[in-house]
Amino acid sequence: MCFWCKVSRVKTNTISFLIICLALLMLCPVCLNAALVVSPTDEGEVTISSGYRSLCQGEVVKICLQSPVPVSAVLSFDGKEYAFTSDNTKLKYFTLIVLGLDMEPGTYDVVIHLESSRGVKKDIPFKLALSGRTFPSKRIKVAGRFTSFTSADIRRIKNEKEMLGCIYSISTPDWLGSGRFVMPLKGKITGTFGAKRVFNDNFVSRHRGIDIRSPKGVPVRASNSGEVVLARDLYFSGNTVIVNHGLGLFSIYCHLSKAVVREGTFADKGKILGYTGSTGRSTGPHLHWGLRLVDDYADPLSMMELSFDCW
Ligand SMILES: [Zn+2]
Repeated sequence: MCFWCKVSRVKTNTISFLIICLALLMLCPVCLNAALVVSPTDEGEVTISSGYRSLCQGEVVKICLQSPVPVSAVLSFDGKEYAFTSDNTKLKYFTLIVLGLDMEPGTYDVVIHLESSRGVKKDIPFKLALSGRTFPSKRIKVAGRFTSFTSADIRRIKNEKEMLGCIYSISTPDWLGSGRFVMPLKGKITGTFGAKRVFNDNFVSRHRGIDIRSPKGVPVRASNSGEVVLARDLYFSGNTVIVNHGLGLFSIYCHLSKAVVREGTFADKGKILGYTGSTGRSTGPHLHWGLRLVDDYADPLSMMELSFDCW
């Protein structure tokens, strides 16, 4: 479920702001805490709203901002900075933030730093309450080379990790996506995000994506539009395609039998990226679908719930 709330522009001072927030929370109890903010500035009122499936670890939250004048806006949260992108009017903005898989439940400070074209600065602080989530645990048997490595394997894994680090550090300020995200493939979800996995009884990791069961050779489609920044064979994830959607968000498609797109090309939403398979550390044909947002993995299913109609 996705819950959207919008706040119309109103005259506000501290008391009316509190009354408005209280009234909105009563009208729409699923909008938690201070996810709705109307803040007066020297140049008018700024309205902030949010959209999300839930406020748990691994979820993506969309923050929308409406300003009376064009601004540059950056959001600070959990030690990271998230840039906003705007529509053509330069008055409506949004960004996507991730509630990290390893974050502890609790209340976190969020600050939006605004600067108008006249150089007027304004910080808008609010709180975000993160709930805990229970993750399942699973034991998996894989080939021995995926839990004990030769020196050549270690070199390859290290090189690929560095390459992926470079890819994920690409900063694209524009949003390249087009409307809502779609599933890259139809099929039963057999692996949930965040599950604790014990490989061959001795190697523990977290599942940083979802698994979709499929026979081999079924088309895998881009879940949204973006640039193909990787299409190659990797040690753990096999034949892999990564698409950059902008704003620090990447979608990841793993264990393909083959990829059919080239790095550096643009993939429209729904374009065939490759075909399902079982390459890399895999126990059978399926798609591992991941999302990476500003240095953290997110549950792709949380992205499916977000609307992109707010601006
Ligand atoms: Zn997986």
